[in-house]
Amino acid sequence: MSIDPAAELPFYYGSISRLDAEQHLKLAGMADGLFLLRQCLRSLGGYVLSVVWNLEFHHYTVEKQLNGTYCIAGGKNHCGPAELCEFYSKDADGLVCTLRKPCLRAPETPIRAGVFDSLRENMLREYVKQTWNLEGEAMEQAIISQAPQLEKLIATTAHEKMSWYHGKLTRQEGERRLYSGAQPDGKFLVRDRDEANSFALSVMYGKTVYHYQILQDKSGKWSMPDGTKFDTIWQLVEYLKMKPDGLVTVLTEACVNGKAEKTPSLPSNRPKVSSAGLGARYTPPPGVGDLPMDCSGFNPYHNPNDIKRFNIKRDQLLMDEVELGSGNFGCVKKGVLKLESGQIDVAIKMLKSDNEKLVKEEMMREAEIMHQLDNPFIVRMLGLCNAECLMLVMEMAGAGPLNKFLSSKKDTITVENIVNLMHQVSMGMKYLEEKNFVHRDLAARNVLLVNPQFAKISDFGLSKALGADDNYYRARTAGKWPLKWYAPECINYHKFSSKSDVWSFGITLWEAFSYGGKPYKKMKGPEVIRFIEGGGRMECPSACPERMYTVMNECWTYKHEDRPDFKKVEESMRAYHYSLSNKALVEEATAEAAK
Ligand code: AMP
Repeated sequence: MSIDPAAELPFYYGSISRLDAEQHLKLAGMADGLFLLRQCLRSLGGYVLSVVWNLEFHHYTVEKQLNGTYCIAGGKNHCGPAELCEFYSKDADGLVCTLRKPCLRAPETPIRAGVFDSLRENMLREYVKQTWNLEGEAMEQAIISQAPQLEKLIATTAHEKMSWYHGKLTRQEGERRLYSGAQPDGKFLVRDRDEANSFALSVMYGKTVYHYQILQDKSGKWSMPDGTKFDTIWQLVEYLKMKPDGLVTVLTEACVNGKAEKTPSLPSNRPKVSSAGLGARYTPPPGVGDLPMDCSGFNPYHNPNDIKRFNIKRDQLLMDEVELGSGNFGCVKKGVLKLESGQIDVAIKMLKSDNEKLVKEEMMREAEIMHQLDNPFIVRMLGLCNAECLMLVMEMAGAGPLNKFLSSKKDTITVENIVNLMHQVSMGMKYLEEKNFVHRDLAARNVLLVNPQFAKISDFGLSKALGADDNYYRARTAGKWPLKWYAPECINYHKFSSKSDVWSFGITLWEAFSYGGKPYKKMKGPEVIRFIEGGGRMECPSACPERMYTVMNECWTYKHEDRPDFKKVEESMRAYHYSLSNKALVEEATAEAAK
């Protein structure tokens, strides 16, 4: 799972040194404007552009900005490394020359992974497993949905996993460890100092141990006094392995801590969210930085046997008077379900007692579908209870439907937040597509929020399970259908498939970026049909990023054969979600670190 936005560029070499970069450029002929891109060893997410001019090398640092854009000091901002290189290929804008010829990576030369790149996967898994007690599919889903935030979290604490990191240690004990065994120049260790946010680097040189302070500045960067600044401790160490940067010697050999062979433990005081470019840990205001996994709803089945329970006994349910919503069938009430493993908040869909057989059958069908689904981004059914009326018991998504939530919070919810939520919806829909289920009523009103960062698809009243060999469901008669959300083939031929759900996803995306606006505002159903048949599509909502409008339009491809499936849609949503740095969180963290 690479989230490096430069990974696709044929002139990107990954984590190579300046000397290696120069060697590649030499071998490629040293033409003016010959260039390559490599990973920056100092700043998280940054790059270095190496360019040849007049038989000389020029290296420009490309910094990732707090708002997620990239720029060379003093230059313009660009939304990604590819866009930046394209810009400088047309306009030197302060560089020695324009980028004229990419120094292409040979097919046998892989992108070189950085120290963190190779640790990342395992660290992410271990971290999610330990911190949230997640395993298997739930863990995979957590990692996919929150990779950027998790990576930042892990990056700022990665040094704790390194063999050279000795934790809290006195100067004397540090010296004792360095003097024991061989004493080569550059043998080193890093230890915590007594003061907060302060480390010490102890280095052997000429059989003497030297100690250097590593301090954090207000923006969260780490450095030795007057030294180069780094986002993380491990980057500083990696850099000092190549350059002394004021030390008596470059770092060579790690003085290995005694724990290196054992399973390293992860930091116990998990910061709720940490930010790239900021070593500081901080706790955001309640609700803002919650990861889905912070919520019990991410995996409510603490006891796996609980999942198997389909029939819920009445005395296991405590009913609240609070009504969460209503529909034709009756109402949805808040409640508590008592399980062997504890109590959980639930939503209870209650059938009106005087309801006819047909509605009861409908509810049973909905329960039958929900019973077969198990995904963090889909509301889970916990069971049915047949008492004073038929009750469908579901996990609780207490922050309500997405459209209402967004329209009431227009001023506070960021575009990044919406992208994150809609990416989760695409993950839930991809799961349905894989299981061969069609939802048939995907709309913002049917996306429920657990908290501002965690969405779940609900309302399976119209859903169908397709046969193994079928790729669509044909409705015999038209019903009370949400026409504005329906693809042309649903309306014209009553054919429903995952591809028609993709169309609905496009409308839902439009609703989300319109902050709960009503699609095709003044038009009535039949007018919408004529509008679509005539090639019309809704305009881009004012707050909607270009890339999200592109995804919407792809979802509204007329012919279902040409429309992307959810596998593709989820990829697009994921790429955009990953490419956005979590601007709001980073800015909050900057403010926090500056206090
Ligand atoms: P439905 O008929 O399934 O769309 O449910 C009607 C309304 O009840 C929804 O719009 C929600 O406001 C509320 N509701 C349904 N299911 C849940 C749930 N699992 N958690 C919280 N609220 C829910």
